[in-house]
Amino acid sequence: MSLYTKHEKIHPRIILGFFTRLKALSGFTLLGIYYTFPWLQWNGNQLVLFDLPARKFHFFGLIFWPQDFIYLALLLVLAAFALFFFTTLAGRLWCGFACPQTIWTDAFLWMERLVEGDRLKQIKLDKAPMSLGKFRIKVTKHTLWVIFSLFTGFTFVGFFVPIHELTSAFIEFNLTDWNTFWILFYGFMIYGNAGWMREQVCIYMCPYARFQSAMFDKNTMIVAYSEKRGESRGSRKRNSNYKEKGLGDCIDCKMCVQVCPTGIDIRDGMQYQCISCSACVDACNGIMDKMDYPRGLISYTTENALNGKPSRIFRPRIFVYGTILLAIFISVVVAISTRSLVQLDVIRDRNSLFRETPNGLIENIYRLRIMNIDEQPHTYTVTASGIDGLQLVKDREVIIVASGSVMTLPVRLKVEATNLKKRSSTVVFQLTAQDDPKLTISEEARFLGPFNFR
Ligand code: SF4
Ligand code: SF4
Repeated sequence: MSLYTKHEKIHPRIILGFFTRLKALSGFTLLGIYYTFPWLQWNGNQLVLFDLPARKFHFFGLIFWPQDFIYLALLLVLAAFALFFFTTLAGRLWCGFACPQTIWTDAFLWMERLVEGDRLKQIKLDKAPMSLGKFRIKVTKHTLWVIFSLFTGFTFVGFFVPIHELTSAFIEFNLTDWNTFWILFYGFMIYGNAGWMREQVCIYMCPYARFQSAMFDKNTMIVAYSEKRGESRGSRKRNSNYKEKGLGDCIDCKMCVQVCPTGIDIRDGMQYQCISCSACVDACNGIMDKMDYPRGLISYTTENALNGKPSRIFRPRIFVYGTILLAIFISVVVAISTRSLVQLDVIRDRNSLFRETPNGLIENIYRLRIMNIDEQPHTYTVTASGIDGLQLVKDREVIIVASGSVMTLPVRLKVEATNLKKRSSTVVFQLTAQDDPKLTISEEARFLGPFNFR
């Protein structure tokens, strides 16, 4: 499938080394999380579930409601700073080792190798005219890809619909139209992006590849070829005195090109197509070992180190991003761990500052917004304090708020004018669940009176 230029299919050669093992470990871990999390339970609920119809988000035993949007915002800010921090520190670490496009493409490449064989067999097969044998191999591969894609789509929907219910509905051929649509849609996206388009998504579609260079400096880790050491390149016998012939350490074996998932030649310099997967580092180190040359002709290094200058990994930017990242992380942890399962907003009536009742009391009107973010309904008691003789009058006696619901309760506070020491006093509303006194929250408000105190 070509997008903007004629596309030549890339058949990356498989290579084993430190970075490719690291990438495989990262892939296994992330795919493991994706495919297993919806099946795990915590306190009788699915471990991770965005229950949109019920407007709840289950996450490791915690329940978040739309009112908890602030936590999502904090998490997004945290993710953005994590990206800045790790990109400044280690370049395109995300692209090479954690991006879903990279991870799923690797899974599809693995299936392709399983069915079609290694790189040379794949090239031979693609060049061969269509035959029954070729047709059978291609159909097998695409069947495997389609099953995997549909399972991926099914798992994706399982993050939004309880996966056990979804499985029962699937077995009984009773999936809803929307569930069917999203399974097919997500499955199709994975099949298209990771099976067909692969590196073209990174090169032509991903905006991150374009703006990340703004975060790079000469001390950012990059995958680079040492031109000074490698040039001039050329083939030679293993123990030949190649330096006498004016050759550098690059034997021009092109192994670094063959393993590259985006099909570039890192010896041409830094390119935005490079996703820093470091496969070429492993490939070249293997060649250097065979030739008895020192490793590191292609290395994961910095521009400064490449030019023989000292590298400063820990520089002011890293500390600034790191400090902000740590501060946001601590804030998120503290905010979530101290989150109250009941929330209270006190809104003063804006229509009148205060009112004098027929029996001479000063009255202020408020609206209490009570949010129950617990999984159970609760009956609450409201009290008010802060001024001697303060009376609380509410429209209803029993305050029951359902799980995940918000109740607005109009209340009036009355007090003898003689008890007011100043024009504006602080009053405190306290809300307590009758069945669980630990569920209590207080909120301050202003109580206004007349200018002239008696
Ligand atoms: S793998 Fe190393 S030696 Fe071979 S072409 Fe690439 S840079 Fe040169
Ligand atoms: S040039 Fe090297 S690091 Fe960059 S994408 Fe290709 S193999 Fe990966």
